[in-house]
Amino acid sequence: MRMKLAATAAMALAAMPLSASAEGEVNIYSYRQAYLLEPLLNAFEKETGIETNVVFAKQGLAERLEREGRNSPADVVMTVDISRINELVERDLVQGVDSDVLNSNIPDNLRHPEGKWFALTTRGRLIFTSKERVEEGEITTYEELADDKWNDRICTRSGKHPYNIALFSSLIAHHGEEWTEQWLQDVKDNLARKPQGGDRDQIKAIAEGVCDISIGNSYYYGNMLQDENQRPIAEQVRLVFPNADGRGTHVNISGISLTKSAPNKDNAVKLMEFLSSPEAQRIYAEANTEYPANPEVKPSGLVAEWGEINPDQLSLQTIADNREAAVKLVDRVDYDGE
Ligand code: FE
Repeated sequence: MRMKLAATAAMALAAMPLSASAEGEVNIYSYRQAYLLEPLLNAFEKETGIETNVVFAKQGLAERLEREGRNSPADVVMTVDISRINELVERDLVQGVDSDVLNSNIPDNLRHPEGKWFALTTRGRLIFTSKERVEEGEITTYEELADDKWNDRICTRSGKHPYNIALFSSLIAHHGEEWTEQWLQDVKDNLARKPQGGDRDQIKAIAEGVCDISIGNSYYYGNMLQDENQRPIAEQVRLVFPNADGRGTHVNISGISLTKSAPNKDNAVKLMEFLSSPEAQRIYAEANTEYPANPEVKPSGLVAEWGEINPDQLSLQTIADNREAAVKLVDRVDYDGE
């Protein structure tokens, strides 16, 4: 696999020499980091002989695709978070894929109805509690975060962050806007401090005694446990799979889409199919302590040790559709304000 960072964006893929591989190539725009993709793409190249070229970026890939238009060298986009994925659809930058392989590997609720995106991994948005100050089983649902008993005891990142917006969007789907607005107001009233930092910082805040409860994505916790320096911090919290006994835990996704202009469409679809296969799903999920999107593949290692996740079956497309409403509610209750 050939890699490029978007920092060198001036060197467009189009300017690169054509692949020498007889099987051709496939060009990937990715928000996902190199170390996550490398083992996968190596396996794909080995199996198919198709060469992969990757452009990594932290942001701006949708804008870049738009700018490049029909001349874009990109075949697929790999990204995280349903709202970012949906943005590609709304800007009309991607096309549908109708593949029996993808349709059978990836469940309905984890793909676009016309195949404009497919989830490759999922991550639970979990509740983390202080092992010292919160009893096991004392909180089991997102709904309970609104309870008075947690007054001054909750930490979260910004309410406007896409991960929180997706969670709030799921609450709108399950309870309606009015209910969710009240819930958001109550959770805000329970915050121990103004929303700040990332998901990992909230776990740190629990370890420091700033708060007793936080919300965060499962892989952050997993990555902290795997990091020698952060493990002692992560070990001070207990993870809770919210709503495990009910509708299930809210999950977000990482996914892949075929670009509208894809010059190597057949190879791109081969790559997408490969990434949904059990072999690739195992490698991909493990690299970032995520869950495989293919239900045939069971989580392994650390993630398996956490016990089974019962994911909310709500369509991710519904979550994307509720995004605007969720943003409005966050503004209305001034979640990030004093
Ligand atoms: Fe993240």
